[in-house]
Amino acid sequence: MTRRVLIAGNWKMNGSLAKNALLLSELCNGMHDFAGCEVAVCVPFPYLAQVQSALQTSSIAWGAQDVSGYAVGAYTGEVSAAMLKDFSCGFGLVGHSERRVYHAESDAVVAQKTLRLLEVGITPIVCVGETLDERNAGMTETVVARQLSAVLSVIEKSALSNIVVAYEPVWAIGTGVTATPAMAQQVHAFLRGQLALVNVESAQKVRILYGGSMKPDNAAALLQMEDIDGGLIGGASLKSGEFLSIVAAGR
Ligand code: PEP
Repeated sequence: MTRRVLIAGNWKMNGSLAKNALLLSELCNGMHDFAGCEVAVCVPFPYLAQVQSALQTSSIAWGAQDVSGYAVGAYTGEVSAAMLKDFSCGFGLVGHSERRVYHAESDAVVAQKTLRLLEVGITPIVCVGETLDERNAGMTETVVARQLSAVLSVIEKSALSNIVVAYEPVWAIGTGVTATPAMAQQVHAFLRGQLALVNVESAQKVRILYGGSMKPDNAAALLQMEDIDGGLIGGASLKSGEFLSIVAAGR
């Protein structure tokens, strides 16, 4: 089955109004002829208005890097899914390893965040991935299955095809070390198998992105694997030339 490739940038805590304006205009100018590929940027909350205004006439979607697990109320500092919807976010990252590690986000919290996004019609990009110690201990499948099943156990079966999954081995994020295409494909196929336990047909439709030092020189090899349906791009999404080369590889 051919799934439309999704290349999503994760700017993390980078940018400024001036830097973003330049990057966004370079992306818009370079986005010709990428019809086969869906493209999005996930930006820090304060820049959502800027990104919405810069991208609304482009084919590039935008999203957030996190969301509150609560819908509304006395949760100082939190940003709700409904607020993201006000800025027409198409996507929201949940469970990025930097959230899990630095903010002690549990699988249960990630599942609540996923639900909040689905409730308002924003596509959650659910991040899963093992640490190097877990991989070396042969725990990769156990870890990603646990992380994914926490989400699958709370969402409606009918919502399965509305999520995107991102496999991001923690040891590959921001390190310059990438999983080989074969290593990544093995985990992606396993994840698709886990999705199929819920619904075989929807599992075929769910896009499973690879993230972890995806760059112009390794993107094509990763994206040609059967179960790799796109990329979640950190560092390289801050450089228009690199990001657009990855988009070109996903066409
Ligand atoms: C990420 O932060 O999701 C990521 C994949 O980062 P990088 O591409 O820099 O490894």
